[in-house]
Amino acid sequence: MLDRDNDLTAWDRDHFFHPSTHMGAHARGDTPTRVMAGGEGVFITDKAGKRSLDAFAGLYCVNVGYGRTEIAEAISKQAHELAYYHAYVGHGTEASITLAQMIIERAPAHMSRVYFGLSGSDANETNIKLIWYYNNILGRPEKKKIISRWRGYHGSGVMTGSLTGLALFHAHFDLPRAPILHTEAPYYFRREDRGQTEEQFSAHCAARLEEMILAVGPDTIAAFIGEPILGTGGIVPPPAGYWAAIQAVLKKYDILLVADEVVTGFGRLGTMFGSDHYGMEPDLITIAKGLTSAYAPLSGSIVSDRMWQVLVQGSDEFGPIGHGWTYSAHPICAAAGVANLKLIDELGLVANARSTGAMFRAGLAEALAGHRNVGEVRGDGLMAAVEFVEDKDDRRFFDPARKIGPAVSAALLERGVIGRAMPQGDILGFAPPLCLTEAEAETVIAATASAVKAVLG
Ligand code: PLP
Repeated sequence: MLDRDNDLTAWDRDHFFHPSTHMGAHARGDTPTRVMAGGEGVFITDKAGKRSLDAFAGLYCVNVGYGRTEIAEAISKQAHELAYYHAYVGHGTEASITLAQMIIERAPAHMSRVYFGLSGSDANETNIKLIWYYNNILGRPEKKKIISRWRGYHGSGVMTGSLTGLALFHAHFDLPRAPILHTEAPYYFRREDRGQTEEQFSAHCAARLEEMILAVGPDTIAAFIGEPILGTGGIVPPPAGYWAAIQAVLKKYDILLVADEVVTGFGRLGTMFGSDHYGMEPDLITIAKGLTSAYAPLSGSIVSDRMWQVLVQGSDEFGPIGHGWTYSAHPICAAAGVANLKLIDELGLVANARSTGAMFRAGLAEALAGHRNVGEVRGDGLMAAVEFVEDKDDRRFFDPARKIGPAVSAALLERGVIGRAMPQGDILGFAPPLCLTEAEAETVIAATASAVKAVLG
């Protein structure tokens, strides 16, 4: 057994190219390999038997929690009956058709069709192509640029990595690539003018957006993409009035809105979709993670009725759409999705995200209140973040080289809880499974307070 474990560690260092990992440090053995082996509810266990409360639900995706046999059985049944058939030229399976129906039933009222992919990144690639196709059908070949936000996260591909507004995902990859522009992040805590109210800051963000549109030319701007609440960029809820102000500008210049709900879709904010929560009326919605709770890879682009009507016009004119993935609507993944969405309903997880989320965020804020290095505790639903600063009074940030965020996250792990050091800023993020109980939330709060004390005093 021991040899086997040693072998795994060696094979890992020698052959496994990990995403988002310091390649040299890992290959040299300077950073640990953790071999994950099992999970139940909010807990995961590694091969050495160490159990952790996963307060980030993997990568904010295991929404129903680990070890759900209902989903495992649905996957197994589908694999036995029909593991694969493609979805081209009108093919489907009971699972994929049922899942499309279930998604549209749950989506905002004006949404109409789902195009399935495998990852959040490929769903956003699909969105970009649909947006371009849409404007070509409407005879607007110049209207192609897409506006994203600094600190937005929309994937890691060439186009989606360009949409992403985080330095780590651009530097040394020659990104971003045109035709993508980035506007100001709706990050109230980091606003320049500290005298602004939230509403004033929202108006400022909308004004900056309008300036950009006018500078570049409204006839060249096709779409705006945003997560309802910034996720990887720091778990930052929109300031009051933000989405109303932004949407007014988009409407004025006939610009489509893409709501990237890869994180917020299916309950994370205590509503089925974040768009409902913040009054967004998107033309496209990106979904992934919570669609299957990551029991199988599956994503989707949900298309509004208005956009769908134009796309149909396009195929009447140009023929079948030239866009397809081999694994689009993969039956095994779709079966996982159907079982997952049923479970979310049966367990009342959307309501739990709302109530336990409120309790968790309030408890976290209370436990850290008054700490001189805690600049802000924020969040919504079952998403929360603690932002650390060197000095709370003048909002002075730590030198990034001190890696305060990663240090607190490591101290938290030592206390049996996984929280994520967000990639830009000293920010500790939480997005636990939506089945989190109040007692488990208390455990996370106590461990966080202890970890903060250990690192910052
Ligand atoms: N969009 C958002 C909002 C995300 O948070 C992510 C991943 O974290 C993605 C897109 C990309 O999804 P994937 O990693 O499945 O490609």
